[in-house]
Amino acid sequence: MTDHTHADTLRTPIVAVLGHVDHGKTSLLDTIRGSAVSEGEAGAITQHIGATDIPLDTISGMAGELIDPTDFDLPGLLFIDTPGHHSFSTLRARGGALADIAVLVVDVNDGFQPQTEEAIDILRRTGTPFVVAANKVDTTPGWNPQDGEPIQKSMDAQSERAKSMLDENLYEIIGQLSDAGFSADLYWRVQDFQKNIGVVPLSALTGEGVPDLLTVLMGLSQRFMKEEMAIDVTGPGEGTVLEVKDERGFGATVDTVVYDGVIRNGDTVVVGGQDEPIVTEIRALLRPRPLAEIRTEKEFEKVGEIGAAAGVKIAAPDLDRAMAGAPVRVVRDRTVDQVVEEVKAELAEIEVETADNGVVVKADTLGSLEAMANALREAEVPILRAEVGDIAPRDIAVAETANQDEHKAILGFNVDLLQNAESDLENADVKLFKNEVIYQLVEDYERYVEEKQRAQQ
Ligand code: GDP
Repeated sequence: MTDHTHADTLRTPIVAVLGHVDHGKTSLLDTIRGSAVSEGEAGAITQHIGATDIPLDTISGMAGELIDPTDFDLPGLLFIDTPGHHSFSTLRARGGALADIAVLVVDVNDGFQPQTEEAIDILRRTGTPFVVAANKVDTTPGWNPQDGEPIQKSMDAQSERAKSMLDENLYEIIGQLSDAGFSADLYWRVQDFQKNIGVVPLSALTGEGVPDLLTVLMGLSQRFMKEEMAIDVTGPGEGTVLEVKDERGFGATVDTVVYDGVIRNGDTVVVGGQDEPIVTEIRALLRPRPLAEIRTEKEFEKVGEIGAAAGVKIAAPDLDRAMAGAPVRVVRDRTVDQVVEEVKAELAEIEVETADNGVVVKADTLGSLEAMANALREAEVPILRAEVGDIAPRDIAVAETANQDEHKAILGFNVDLLQNAESDLENADVKLFKNEVIYQLVEDYERYVEEKQRAQQ
């Protein structure tokens, strides 16, 4: 028997893209999607909710000589569409990270930046295997694009000057990875991806090096993920809520990444809710229609079932209190109570300590709420109330009850102020802080408290 016999039991690895702002995460995801689509015939991409599936056929079509598809048992790669380490670290699956592997994007001219360091810390903590995409090689002065060539050949074909500038930048990144405790090298020099981090020079703009990245990701998944990705395809589906959304004709729905088992239309599911787990029955499983069809048809198409790994929108009654970041579990082979207990236990791992007095915290997902709570604990800022969701009138009412002035504050991470709360905020003696970077949010608040204390002296 060869290694290839368990092809049916390995699920698609889930890939997250992380890195500092402006280093090219969004562009890289766009380019991966775009070049997969233009690769055309062989499978192309499958649209999912919140994720994009690139089948092995498509990857091997893009990668040409770089890849021998018979080396792989994996069906392809599922990229989570929302880039950034917040979406990575706040999306869990059974206590671990939802993503199996990660791409750390580093601007080759800019090197490591604060969010690169943050991302590295998270990857280390979660033990997630990753590849470094050394992005924007095309900005090297004198860069001469080599269409369709593997990046190593492309680099060899550059002028001496371009070569040495790029080399210098790449070795700087390799050195920074080494300072962070990872041994790393250009990917074609890496023999063992378990021991060394592969660095893939590429350009999200021109697409150079992107097939190389996909090849390395396949290799990395193949080596690291065998056990974790062996699934019982008929088992009860397990997933994580990416987003809770109102959808015309369906009411409140949850966008979910299914990381294990199968979810079927009509299944009873337990979903983590704001007060307690929601037990409900699936009315519809929805997937985006191909773009070409959307002009004439509704945006979504219904599917009967969906197996891991995949992104799907679940429509069911009572989902309006569901929480982004919370677990979704199909009730099958067990009682509803057992599954409810399981979901409760998983949610209990995400503990946010609150006090009788303190600030109000709102965040977009459970995991980001936990990250906020940790950051505030370190800064010794007490929390009166912490919840997932946009800032609503009652949050302002709660913040106003704080008995110290400095605590009459709401810290919103990645959330909006609801329209019906705008006038409440104007009329209340409550200060609102909003940011998409946790440490900045905490810093802004600390500065405010200092200024307030100085003014009182
Ligand atoms: P993100 O914040 O990490 O998602 O970064 P974006 O993908 O939004 O990219 C930030 C900026 O860098 C945008 O203006 C992109 O067009 C540009 N950019 C991204 N990748 C490349 C690249 O490979 N080459 C060049 N020249 N520009 C790039």
